[in-house]
Amino acid sequence: MSDINFTCPICRKILKDEGKCLVCENSHSFDKAKQGYTHLLPVNKMHSKIPGDNALMVNARRDFLNKGYYGIFAEALCEIVKKYSKSITNPIILDCGSGEGYYTGKMKECLPESNIFGFDISKFAVKAAAGKYKNISFAVASVFSIPFPDESADVLTNIFSPLCEKEFLRVLKKGGYFIFAVPGERHLYEMKEVLYASPYENE
Ligand SMILES: [Zn+2]
Repeated sequence: MSDINFTCPICRKILKDEGKCLVCENSHSFDKAKQGYTHLLPVNKMHSKIPGDNALMVNARRDFLNKGYYGIFAEALCEIVKKYSKSITNPIILDCGSGEGYYTGKMKECLPESNIFGFDISKFAVKAAAGKYKNISFAVASVFSIPFPDESADVLTNIFSPLCEKEFLRVLKKGGYFIFAVPGERHLYEMKEVLYASPYENE
């Protein structure tokens, strides 16, 4: 295992795992929650009191994904990640906007030797992810201020999540891979037709 870990949201130094908390060399300390994740979103970066998906949304999506409807998509994602990391020993994979960890967990299953990290702005999502996937490090954090060292990730994944190009370029190793999944033009269009007065296609 490498020494790679999340970075301190205050001074950006790498955090060291001290068991019950993560600590940087400037003694900023972040307690781990019972499920093992860490809250690395500075209060002044929180634009709402409870940012991201709420507990109901997280539970609904988890129930849906666990039924396997997107299993074929997860398999395709794993194949791509495997292909691009096969020549790397213990690749470092960072799943940005990892939600309740469905895809993060699948990637760890297919690449057990990898160091996988995931983060999401929703504390409810991260709580669910960390409770279920114990061999992955999760944090509550924002894509606009990623708590990860410069040029440290071999593979970055972003599955249906917001994008911050500047931050993604910063944390990705030179020659690393960025895997970005976006909804197609008519994604869930049939549902939109039912729910919206004027359904629209995605850009
Ligand atoms: Zn610090």
